[in-house]
Amino acid sequence: MRTPRPSPASAEDLHARLSARITALEDRVRRLEARLALEARKPPPVRTRASVSAATVRTARPRPRCPGCTLELPRGRRGESCVWCGFMFAAVPRRASAPKTPRKPR
Ligand SMILES: [Zn+2]
Repeated sequence: MRTPRPSPASAEDLHARLSARITALEDRVRRLEARLALEARKPPPVRTRASVSAATVRTARPRPRCPGCTLELPRGRRGESCVWCGFMFAAVPRRASAPKTPRKPR
C-alpha cells in the first residue's frame, strides 16, 4: 500500500503559514513585553490623603462590643442579641455609668 504523502507544495505552504504566524506572535509578544516594561516603570497609583485617612478612621473607630463575650459586633444592623454568643443586649443597661452599688438612704 502506498502511504499518501503530502505534496511538497502544500507542506511548504503549511510551513510558510506557520512561520508567518510565529512571526506575528513573536511581534505581538515583543509589543506586550514593551508595554509591560513601561507599566512596570510607572510608579504605583498614588493614594490621596483623603482615602488613606478615611481608611484609618474606619479601622480606628471602635466597634461596639458584646457585653457577654466581649467580641466585636459586626458592622451594619445590630440585632437584639449578639451574633456570636446570643447575648441579649436588653439584659444590660445601655449606660455603663449606672451605679453598681446603689446606696440606700438611712
Ligand atoms: Zn456575644
